[in-house]
Amino acid sequence: MTPREALKRYFGYDSFRPGQEEIVSALLAGRDALAIMPTGAGKSLCYQVPALLLPGLTLVISPLISLMQDQVKGLNAAGIHAAFINSSLTETQIARALDLAAEGSYKLVYVAPERLESPVFRSFAAGADISMVTVDEAHCISQWGQDFRPSYLKILDFIDSLPRRPIVSAFTATATREVKDDIVCTLRLHDPKVLVTGFDRPNLYFQVERTRRKDDFVIQYLRDHPGESGIIYCATRKNVDKLQELLTKYGFAATKYHAGLSAEARRKNQNDFIYDTAPVIVATNAFGMGIDKSNVRFVLHYNMPQSMENYYQEAGRAGRDGLPSQCVLLFSAQDVIINKFLLDKKDFAEMDDEEADLLRQRDLQRLQTMERYCQTTECLRNYILAYFGEHPTAPCGNCGSCNNDFDEVDMTDAAKWMINC
Ligand code: ADP
Ligand code: MG
Repeated sequence: MTPREALKRYFGYDSFRPGQEEIVSALLAGRDALAIMPTGAGKSLCYQVPALLLPGLTLVISPLISLMQDQVKGLNAAGIHAAFINSSLTETQIARALDLAAEGSYKLVYVAPERLESPVFRSFAAGADISMVTVDEAHCISQWGQDFRPSYLKILDFIDSLPRRPIVSAFTATATREVKDDIVCTLRLHDPKVLVTGFDRPNLYFQVERTRRKDDFVIQYLRDHPGESGIIYCATRKNVDKLQELLTKYGFAATKYHAGLSAEARRKNQNDFIYDTAPVIVATNAFGMGIDKSNVRFVLHYNMPQSMENYYQEAGRAGRDGLPSQCVLLFSAQDVIINKFLLDKKDFAEMDDEEADLLRQRDLQRLQTMERYCQTTECLRNYILAYFGEHPTAPCGNCGSCNNDFDEVDMTDAAKWMINC
């Protein structure tokens, strides 16, 4: 079977998207690969198609239980033998899954990075026919990234422990130099095929709404977009609770998601959103990684995020189906102060002073770049693309700045707010 045949047969697609085929070919030729593609570009297929065509098993390392479960559900529905092994399973279930995997029953097995250290898993891996190890959300390996996970640092040790070195592939949406270099070094990729696809998402309309009356804006926005599905990100759980309550009071079918809710409530609310029972979800940035909902028409940011990486990743959850969608960031002078406050509170407990200082400086720089995005009168898309290292050309004509949708923010508000604190 050729990659294209596999794409059609298992996933029902006629053609690869930009970049996908190059990665698939490199992996099938036995080469390591690192693919940096924006959220929604279709990274999963880049390793799933080779996984089907390579002889043995592909081990996918993935940071989130919900993400693994969704992927495996999707693969199984497509008739592909795949399983996940994580802490949602009992010891007995894990043993059974590993037995099946050892017998060659699965083409893909998803695991959390912590699992790689377990002796039971190590002894399974030593005897299994592992063709490829795939590291999804690979930016988690980088201390420069905001999603750093120490357990990702153990992946190399695991790969080294295998009797035969598998093909290693890594995927992320974070395009900064430091993160890219960190991934290549820390996973010790061998002469990898590195692919960075364009970060532009032409179907997304970017806008910054400079306003203090954010609640009013959101209510009006939802009135203007009846029945559409969207995500509203807030900086804090408290804001999520307040805004969701307000929207419900106004009669909108809005649910919510943050880490303070029980696992059961999170699952229910997430499903309500995915199946459009509640087409709008108000959430902290705990929501979204691995959520593959294609018809999200808008992503509103009630508060300014802490970095352009965060912003573009979250905003990028709009319009995965390629249809026109809006990404609106609500900005007021208070946002700057709230974010500085959150940064000050950030805990660098496990680091020495020098390291903590460095990270603090980086965080501050990121925040300033984000702030400039909120203040600029230049083309917003060009601002984003330039940040991610692309060389943009003419203004895009499809963003708030290009449409001259600009008003001033009164910075004296910020000063007042500080005095009141
Ligand atoms: P990423 O991991 O890069 O954020 P996903 O792998 O979750 O993105 O894919 C996003 C969406 O794009 C999914 O709904 C997927 O089915 C779809 N997709 C991926 N590749 C193709 C393709 N070649 N043709 C059509 N749709 C695709
Ligand atoms: Mg993905």
